[in-house]
Amino acid sequence: MRLFEGTEFDIPPTCDRCQQPEANCQCPPPAHEFLPNDRQTARLRLEKRKRGKIVTLVLGLAPDETDLPKLLTSLKNTCGAGGTIGDNAIEIQGDHHDRISKSLAEMGYRVAK
Ligand SMILES: [Zn+2]
Repeated sequence: MRLFEGTEFDIPPTCDRCQQPEANCQCPPPAHEFLPNDRQTARLRLEKRKRGKIVTLVLGLAPDETDLPKLLTSLKNTCGAGGTIGDNAIEIQGDHHDRISKSLAEMGYRVAK
């Protein structure tokens, strides 16, 4: 029950974004909120793949808590390397452990030693 409900002072709740009464609101649901970077701990691991190729894995960041595609793009730029999103991990081609560790720390992530 709202204050003033049923009186002439009653104002139906409106959407903060479109200012329409909530009943008429067509806004998409609010964007998913990710966990703040400083509440997440990334773990880095080097892994050897077929034909001796090394990839740097960024583990420990859950897809529903981190914008992994965005982070992937950022890390690819930082390392100048290709990469992909694997099984709950970001994979960057090559050994970029130190660079990724530094970059994640700069973004505010905690990085497990
Ligand atoms: Zn709306």
